[in-house]
Amino acid sequence: MPSTRSALTVAAIAGAVAWGALALPFGQQARPGYDDTPMQPDGKWRVHDSRRPQPPVVRPVSFVNIPPPGDAVVLLGPGDDLSAWQMDDGKPVSWSISGGVLQSGKGYVRTRAEFTDIQLHLEFATPSEAKGDSQGRGNSGVFLAGVFEIQVLDSFENPTYADGQAAAMYGQHPPQVNASCPPGEWQSYDIAFTAPRFAADGKLSAPAIVTVFHNGVLVHNARPFWGPTAHKKIDPYVPSTARGPLRLQDHGNPVRFRNIWVRELREPDERARDHE
Ligand code: MG
Repeated sequence: MPSTRSALTVAAIAGAVAWGALALPFGQQARPGYDDTPMQPDGKWRVHDSRRPQPPVVRPVSFVNIPPPGDAVVLLGPGDDLSAWQMDDGKPVSWSISGGVLQSGKGYVRTRAEFTDIQLHLEFATPSEAKGDSQGRGNSGVFLAGVFEIQVLDSFENPTYADGQAAAMYGQHPPQVNASCPPGEWQSYDIAFTAPRFAADGKLSAPAIVTVFHNGVLVHNARPFWGPTAHKKIDPYVPSTARGPLRLQDHGNPVRFRNIWVRELREPDERARDHE
């Protein structure tokens, strides 16, 4: 019946208008994220898409403590030695450190050394007091080869866009599950990272690949990056991303770090040659 259909249409429009009015007070969206960002390369979602489903929550979880193996490069040990680190601009580290716990401050820190393929262990804790929401709560980040961010965020009962929550390959892939601990508790990332490879002409020959365990729970299984991670955009690979430092982000929230070490990954034959 035309009259019924038009009545339904009017109801649908009225509903949409009401939803729009509800969804947009103060210019905000009902769900955190964006609907005007570029489509991701696989064509499924936009960067930071507000409609992308939240990963299922896994509880309980517990951080994993792994002391550095004998062949590890210790970047942050039990003491207050920051000799492995500097600010991004080369100045001495201005973040505070006490008893082997480094707390984020103004500016990014980076390792003096640069790496390619690594195993990384790192422990972190977001502030005990859960202040702010979405990207404003306990935000920091672990940048592999300087430019590939594994997000650090308080994602315990703190909705944000799926590709920006804790352990996300920022702006690219959400973790398979949300394995976050409550704010203030220590958490761990165990990461295997393969740096991108480039041909002599500078063309990408193999993308960066990452495997991530968040609090012992697998959240990325050998997943490639589309390029360096970025906010609201898609950046292309460039040959300079073939190696780089480990960097930790300042996002205005005091996040603590401890027990950070890497093992530089090499093929067994190369390793054996080193010991001949
Ligand atoms: Mg971050």
